[in-house]
Amino acid sequence: MVQALVLEKKGELSLRDIDLPLEVGPDDVKIAIDTVGVCGSDVHYYTHGAIGSFVVREPMVLGHEAAGTITAVGVHVKNLKVGDRVCMEPGVPNMNSRATKLGIYNVDPDVRFWATPPIHGVLTPEVVHPAAFTYKLPDNVSFAEGAMVEPFAVGLQAATRARITPGDVGLVIGCGPIGIMTALAALAGGCARVYISDLSAPKLAIAGQYAGIHPVNITERKLADVIAAETEGWGADVVFEASGSPRAYDGIFDLVRPGGTLVLIGMPVEPTKFDVAAAIIKEARIETVFRYANNFDRAVNLIASGKVDLKPLISETFDFAQSIEAFDRAAKGLPDDVKLQIKLRG
Ligand SMILES: [Zn+2]
Repeated sequence: MVQALVLEKKGELSLRDIDLPLEVGPDDVKIAIDTVGVCGSDVHYYTHGAIGSFVVREPMVLGHEAAGTITAVGVHVKNLKVGDRVCMEPGVPNMNSRATKLGIYNVDPDVRFWATPPIHGVLTPEVVHPAAFTYKLPDNVSFAEGAMVEPFAVGLQAATRARITPGDVGLVIGCGPIGIMTALAALAGGCARVYISDLSAPKLAIAGQYAGIHPVNITERKLADVIAAETEGWGADVVFEASGSPRAYDGIFDLVRPGGTLVLIGMPVEPTKFDVAAAIIKEARIETVFRYANNFDRAVNLIASGKVDLKPLISETFDFAQSIEAFDRAAKGLPDDVKLQIKLRG
């Protein structure tokens, strides 16, 4: 039995002992977990008991944004050794699947993803994970930053799918954690500047700390007017929708330049309409983003290079014993909170 933060059912968390498999297979590593980020999806399972067709039917350990230290390696493992500091990619596909062979393992229907029912997450002191989905952290990347690699990888997936050309003007709709990660990834990917829009002034102030990110408060100014004014009426080269709000789609192609790109990241809860004719008239390219593939190592590289500093986004760190408190705080959705983390080791 090991201790873990368990979502018993919708609205009920407990920090208790649970049986989890800790056998190290030939291609696996065992990791002593140091830091775990609290993600919107973890919180959503807590508050709603489900995300789409994924329903919590039995107790499930939460947490999927994690970093720690290798404590054991399987006999076939060559890339990692005991004592290495690492972060882990939470989704493990079927290595023999058609999607995996195509390099798009994130959309493998058989993917097993931490803290997505019925797969347990990693808010527990030790986990076993395939070495192929475990990434070494350079000495200058902290565990706290290592636990930010997962959400940053979503931003990098968006920037990659956008096929940014150096000098592009970007716009991110939605200033939540993923919106800010996307803006940072778009800058790292070559955007000259990135606008980011939201209704929340505190969130925009956090994003606006970064050089190259320009906040737009849509309670004060119409987004289409701002983008038109800033681009001589041409539009943004790449628009990233990271709010998940159906309202974001009203007039969204007014923001995209002719021949520009719209990247869909935020997942609306309900089927959502958009103006097909407006997209066609501009011959806009539409891309979608589901998690990430082959972006964890790139995320680590960018953090280690100093080009991307995610530390200002860590709002507060809780001890493992305060995990439930951390989730209750995250569930409040305070506008000044970007990322809350839980530290399992002192
Ligand atoms: Zn996450």
